[in-house]
Amino acid sequence: MRTLIRDCRLYLNGKIVENCLLVIDAPLISDFGVDHGLQLACDVEVSAKGRLLLPGLVDPHVHLRDQGLSYKEDFWTGTASAVLGGVTSVIDMPNNLPPTATPSDLAERMELAKGRILANVGFACKPSPDHSLNSKLAEGGAIAFKMFVYEHMDRGRLDLPLVERVLESLSKLDRVLMLHCNVKTSFSEVLDLVKSRRAFKLCRVEKGLAEEILAIARKHGARVHFCHVTCPRTVELINDYKGFVRATLEVAVHHILLDHSILNGLGPMAHVDPPLRSRSTARRLFDMLRRGMVDFVASDHAPHALFEKEGEDPKPGLPNLQLMMPLLMTQVKRGRLDLSLVLERASARPAKVFGLRKRGAIVKGYYADLVEVDLKRRLKVRSDILVSKAKYTPFEGATLVGVPVRTYVNGVCVNDDYTIVGKGGEGVVLMPR
Ligand SMILES: [Zn+2]
Repeated sequence: MRTLIRDCRLYLNGKIVENCLLVIDAPLISDFGVDHGLQLACDVEVSAKGRLLLPGLVDPHVHLRDQGLSYKEDFWTGTASAVLGGVTSVIDMPNNLPPTATPSDLAERMELAKGRILANVGFACKPSPDHSLNSKLAEGGAIAFKMFVYEHMDRGRLDLPLVERVLESLSKLDRVLMLHCNVKTSFSEVLDLVKSRRAFKLCRVEKGLAEEILAIARKHGARVHFCHVTCPRTVELINDYKGFVRATLEVAVHHILLDHSILNGLGPMAHVDPPLRSRSTARRLFDMLRRGMVDFVASDHAPHALFEKEGEDPKPGLPNLQLMMPLLMTQVKRGRLDLSLVLERASARPAKVFGLRKRGAIVKGYYADLVEVDLKRRLKVRSDILVSKAKYTPFEGATLVGVPVRTYVNGVCVNDDYTIVGKGGEGVVLMPR
């Protein structure tokens, strides 16, 4: 199918160009540029009414749940949240039920996703010290591997021989090891740390673990990615190592835009792992993103049921996917972030690092994963606008701009006027190149 989008603004060579057109020969972009009013054959013609047409965001850190955790989220509600948030490709984390840890688990998850995803999904798997198992997972389509380091710690010490076996193995397979590089902290422990002004202790742990892992990655030439880094010193450390190690790092939107003062009002609804930091830390992290010291911005979309957030030991995690583009574009509109930086760090670069071929930019021959963004339309954030099963948000009450009024995935419109029109199956399972 051939779709012609007229009257859009495109961001080309570092500036916004008015009165453009873009032609989609699904699933690819076949042409774009300034509209000279020529008649063009197409099946569908739409007007973007002067709005910005941007590449869809690529979110490398998402928990889509489904299977045994479908009561929290499923492939449909998770990817519907993504496309309403301007996110067209995501990487799914492996802490599922069952965990994505064996080739048959991975194959089953891929099979279940087919026909039910509105955005493209790549699957990260749990790594093993057994190279042959990692190798089979890589052959089966594991786009990356994800390690929760607290699962490999004993009395505060990381199992370094195990981490070394994993990194040696993944280095041979040329796959990225994504790291959740923190210890677990319960909600009551977080409140105690904040109250006694000892939250900085968690930063010491994060940086110490990152340092141990970077040293091993350096020895084996392994690729490592640090998820949701929350401490400026860890960001500096990883940047210092970039000359010797193929390392990347991400910040999560909530760690740069929110701080732990909101725990007073929102309580466990703002509980997340790693926990929110102080206002000054959040500001410094934001500034490091602005200055190019952070590789990606991610949602760490981690939905839970309300009874789990309100229970005795509240689960950490926030459902952020649907707010991604508006959160970032609001910062662009306020002049706090450059549009070019957002497109690079929230789309082009994650696509490149995780090997998502022909995605993350508007280029002829690339997949038509696109978002039409309305910079004038306001989005008042309330839990009940979320299509996620998790009806809570730490951004409750915020007014954002940059609403994704249309989203195209592989050339098919899946969100029209901020309403899901896709049937599921427009997104594909992303395979490593
Ligand atoms: Zn996560």
